[in-house]
Amino acid sequence: MCNAKEHGLSRRQFGFFGLSALGLSASPQKAVAAEIEALALTCIDHRLVDDGVRFFDNLHLTNEYDQVALAGASLAGVSPKFPSSNAAVWDHVAIAKQLHHISKVIVLDHRDCGAYKVAFGKDFAAAHDAETAQHKKVMLQFQATLKQKYPDLGSEFYLMALNGTAERVV
Ligand SMILES: [Zn+2]
Repeated sequence: MCNAKEHGLSRRQFGFFGLSALGLSASPQKAVAAEIEALALTCIDHRLVDDGVRFFDNLHLTNEYDQVALAGASLAGVSPKFPSSNAAVWDHVAIAKQLHHISKVIVLDHRDCGAYKVAFGKDFAAAHDAETAQHKKVMLQFQATLKQKYPDLGSEFYLMALNGTAERVV
């Protein structure tokens, strides 16, 4: 006789972890994979976590988006300086598409981003327009890669200032 508890996990616990690994909630009401609008890609920066949530609330997407946070946001998807982030971004686009049938990816970059400084060896904070242009360049690269991989997915690209206001760039 095999007692599951002897293996350290009961069947019930295993089921819970199995669902969690797929990103699905263990609560019965939410167990069915929903169809949601978007996957959000943000930077990790602690200064803008709350502003990021508010930003997606203002897009009427409260609890209606999957989220990936990786340093640099758009940069994480395409910069050769961050190969493991590249893989994580595209893996999660695939997962969000498969699990939740997203129709678009929303990328939220921000000004004074440390990852951009690392990638380009420049501090853009003092040069507002040059900073916007640098983000736009990376965003267009991200968009081209997304179109190549998933022609059916839309995309929106925003740049947030440190005061929490955001502008659409692409
Ligand atoms: Zn950042």
